[in-house]
Amino acid sequence: MSAPNRVFLVKYGEISLKGANRRQFEERLIEQIHKPLAGTPHRVRRAWGRIYVEDYTDSAAVARALGDTFGIVSYAEADVVDRDAVAHDADLLDAAAVELARRLAASAAAATFKIEARRSDKAYPQTSYQIACRLGDRICAALPALGVDVHAPGFVLSVEVRDRIYLYGPSSPGRGGLPVGASARGLLLLSGGIDSPIAGYLMGKRGMPLDHVYFHSYPYTSDDALAKVQRLAEHLARYVPDARLCTISFTAINELIKQRAPDRLSTLLLRACMMRAATLLARRTGAVALVTGESLGQVASQTGEAIAFTDSTSELPVLRPLIGMDKEEIVRTARAIGTFETSTLPYPDCCTLFAAKHPVLRPKLAQMHGALRALEADELIAAAADGSAPGSERLSPLPS
Ligand code: ATP
Ligand code: MG
Repeated sequence: MSAPNRVFLVKYGEISLKGANRRQFEERLIEQIHKPLAGTPHRVRRAWGRIYVEDYTDSAAVARALGDTFGIVSYAEADVVDRDAVAHDADLLDAAAVELARRLAASAAAATFKIEARRSDKAYPQTSYQIACRLGDRICAALPALGVDVHAPGFVLSVEVRDRIYLYGPSSPGRGGLPVGASARGLLLLSGGIDSPIAGYLMGKRGMPLDHVYFHSYPYTSDDALAKVQRLAEHLARYVPDARLCTISFTAINELIKQRAPDRLSTLLLRACMMRAATLLARRTGAVALVTGESLGQVASQTGEAIAFTDSTSELPVLRPLIGMDKEEIVRTARAIGTFETSTLPYPDCCTLFAAKHPVLRPKLAQMHGALRALEADELIAAAADGSAPGSERLSPLPS
């Protein structure tokens, strides 16, 4: 429970934002902060280049929400002191600073501190320097075990004079990026692997709202494989909220490829069919781009030539935020955001079951397009994308 005089002070990327962009950024960010807090009392307010979360009852829930929301540079829970009250009785601010210093010294086990004061309102009667000196003196007098060290302090106590006076200790780092909703919508091809959830996370971090599509091949792929993707989607929703997961049956298409296509081309043809189906679905979800977890050279279907072919099968831009990342970097991110454990559950998706033994590494565009035409998969792809393919009764509701 928070006392009524505590608020969360949110800092966001204000420097690069100007005019209308900045206003839009702030509005999106406020919307995104509200979302994870929908079930708990709170108020979000914007003033003086900061966003404040106030009137909450569950401080841990607010901290978690701010820690998961893109667009935030840092945040801190601050003690609030009323300016008019301080104008009448300056001791009020001194007492609040001493009390906070006592708490910070105990939690940091620190013997030294520094005051960082900021005065956004130049009408305030004391300068930042005067505020810092006065509060530093009062703290040293009240807590003799503490000393000032401006170069290597054990903790920093920040004071910001704005509409009210905010006092706070170390800020927690935010996730950075842009608030989800700052960009147009994308459609993430979400498999059960390690990579695609990270691709979704990184596009969300650039402000892109997402829907997800998963291609299953029931009964070749299990219910567990589908449940795994659903869990990944739920997990991603912590950072990229409101994404819909569309599950599409690719059983008939996988069987067609197995029957008709040379084995060495099968993985790439399957990828092409996925891109076609995703492009059709994107029209209904309102996505302006597809997003995949491909990374250059990671597997045979991700060589430069293979990606050039995959790219040529969709009219939409295909965003590949992992393209230049090493697997270790991707795994590190997966561990950090908590998708790694689910991604490494051992339920194969359709690609691993129907995978080519010796996939082509340097496919020729003309040859691949010939093979794609020879497959005559257009009708099946359209049926898969609109939910009328065999096995589609397993579909999650598709957006209409
Ligand atoms: P991931 O770890 O994301 O599965 P990967 O390294 O296994 O990626 P591929 O299997 O070659 O790579 O797939 C490349 C990309 O194609 C994936 O990152 C994903 O975006 C998309 N994809 C692959 N299989 C599926 C599927 N069954 N459903 C939806 N998208 C898929
Ligand atoms: Mg995969």
